Amino acid sequence: MSRSDELFERAVKVIPGGVNSPVRAYGSVGMTPRFIEGASGPYVVDADSKKYIDYISSWGPMILGHNNQEVLNAVIRKAESGLSFGAATEIEVEMAEFICENIPSIEMIRMVNSGTEAVMSAIRAARGYTGRNKIVKFAGCYHGHSDALLVKAGSGVMTAGIPDSAGVPAGATQDTLTAVYNNLESVKMLFEENEGQIAAVIVEPVAANMGVVLPKEGFLKGLRELCTNHGAVLIFDEVITGFRLAFGGAQERFGIEADLVTYGKIIGAGMPVGAFGGKREIMEVIAPVGHVYQAGTLSGNPVAMAAGLTQLKILKNHPEIYTHMSQMGEKLYEGMKELVKKYGKPWKVNHIESLGCIYFTDQDVENYEDAKTSDTEEFARYFHYMLEHGIHLGPSQFEAMFLSNAHTEETTKETLEIFEGFLKQE
Ligand code: PLP
Repeated sequence: MSRSDELFERAVKVIPGGVNSPVRAYGSVGMTPRFIEGASGPYVVDADSKKYIDYISSWGPMILGHNNQEVLNAVIRKAESGLSFGAATEIEVEMAEFICENIPSIEMIRMVNSGTEAVMSAIRAARGYTGRNKIVKFAGCYHGHSDALLVKAGSGVMTAGIPDSAGVPAGATQDTLTAVYNNLESVKMLFEENEGQIAAVIVEPVAANMGVVLPKEGFLKGLRELCTNHGAVLIFDEVITGFRLAFGGAQERFGIEADLVTYGKIIGAGMPVGAFGGKREIMEVIAPVGHVYQAGTLSGNPVAMAAGLTQLKILKNHPEIYTHMSQMGEKLYEGMKELVKKYGKPWKVNHIESLGCIYFTDQDVENYEDAKTSDTEEFARYFHYMLEHGIHLGPSQFEAMFLSNAHTEETTKETLEIFEGFLKQE
């Protein structure tokens, strides 16, 4: 028995499903999970000392590659002054100043501990600000696991085939309206049917929890206009895309400013951090200035801030990182596309910058319904083969591949060779 299997046997006895987040389980691909012991650069090593090229990147945060020395040093230095004080610290101010100075749409920001909290709080702020209750989300977009947003959510929820979660009362989702990604008409209709009642539209500017679905030309701009015209708050959920598609995230990449933006993942460099920010006028509804309550014992934790701020400063000071990841993305994902074509498969590869995914379908994937046409059994075969040959992918059709700055020409070449091996035997 492998050490991963031994650990899993112990884990399932004391942790539901043996994992602390459902997507870490390998249930949907009919396997037991690999336990990870350590990581460096583009590689992770499992409990049986097997090394993999990692495309999970902790689901996004490790954009510099694993165990970046500068980030690590910052964490160690900060930890030596104490782990948490439950009081204001200078580094929180530095983090907020840095983001407000560098992200044009953000005038104020508040730190939280996860993407889920960031989104939940942004929605509450938007409702408090507008005095309206309804929100619009898109089918297949995932915004964390708060009650109101577990409606037609992607990734883990999608893989498990749970459209809505048990334990979420109908009352919690009655004000959550669902539109179709890349379909402005569906949003227009909701605004018409609910005139004056919609507080916010929340969107993943690139949907990265139903695989990777790119916004069609004019989609995000259309959302911006609809929100402006109807007095609703436009929220970009940049938990994945923030500091990834470009330093300024999707807002910079697509030239659209949202009213509120949510962050997670990269902003914490692997520590539990999230944040939401935007227009001063909206952010000032938050307590203790305004009457929208929002709080956190560990929010703005100094060690987490040290990790995140160090990573953000590296990204800001080294624009070549984005050029490199863009080039690696082009090589890897276009390389996969070419191989798919060479072996006469109808499959689709969607990608933008460092994010990409393959769908085992002959349909172009532009929304949740398209994504669901992917053959998940074929995905499982692909996943098994890749893992067996040293490629660490998310164990779900509906997860993105995350490249980091540590991925190289060599890792790309090796990955493509292994992918070709899979295609040959299919
Ligand atoms: N929003 C998006 C777009 C996400 O991808 C995720 C998580 O993957 C979240 C929100 C929730 O973040 P967290 O898992 O940190 O709570």
